[in-house]
Amino acid sequence: MADTKIRLYVEQPLGEGQTIPLARDQAHYLFGVMRRGVGDALAVFNGRDGEWRAEVREAGKRGGTLEAVEQTAPQRDPPDLWLLFAPIKKARTDFIVEKAAEMGAARILPVQSEFTNSERIRQDRLQAHAVEAAEQCGGTFVPEVCDLQRLDRLLADWPGDRQLMFCDEALAGAGETLGQAGGGKWAILIGPEGGFSEAERARLHALPFAHAVSLGPRILRADTAAVAALTVWQQALGDWA
Ligand code: SAH
Repeated sequence: MADTKIRLYVEQPLGEGQTIPLARDQAHYLFGVMRRGVGDALAVFNGRDGEWRAEVREAGKRGGTLEAVEQTAPQRDPPDLWLLFAPIKKARTDFIVEKAAEMGAARILPVQSEFTNSERIRQDRLQAHAVEAAEQCGGTFVPEVCDLQRLDRLLADWPGDRQLMFCDEALAGAGETLGQAGGGKWAILIGPEGGFSEAERARLHALPFAHAVSLGPRILRADTAAVAALTVWQQALGDWA
């Protein structure tokens, strides 16, 4: 049965005839949950080599192997866009990572700002959410989820050639948009539930690479704001055109 609806992220390089050993959870999903077996086809990608049709060669309870047969789609990377956000409650943080992967962020950076509630994140769990999102949205790229870092330090070491779309809730309704901002490398910054402190806001407004924008007249929750900002950016400067 050739079912290419199943998409699996793998780590191995992909090329014709390449053997792909399956991890235990992948074998469980493929053979236990999805009831696939030897000879069945599925789609695999590794974030670098595009999408490939692979066939099951061995199927076991704890493992198995696939063979890459032919490339079915070229590698497609998103624009060079980072999403910086202050982690909020677990389910909403998961949501932000999932949506950022679907919306085409290249890198996801949880940042600790002054009013950030959560001091810790589970980077491995968030990375797994990004992988799952890529599997289900048909993408061939998986954004890297970084460890939590302090916003002030990140801004101090900021790469000079990357512009920052600073989503400032104090501008709600002020109509500030990306305007004539040009393309290239970008990052979006979304604050925590408590918003930005006045000191942070003043610093951000003074940064030469920052563009302060409004996301409309209503104050959005951070998870909504992240999706809205990604939408606005992709529409204006990204790969939607
Ligand atoms: N508690 C704050 C709101 C925080 S909303 C207050 O009441 O003022 C969480 C984050 O979403 C904000 O830090 C900002 O980055 C973004 N955000 C939400 N609504 C916005 C808007 N209308 N314009 C710009 N950014 C917004």
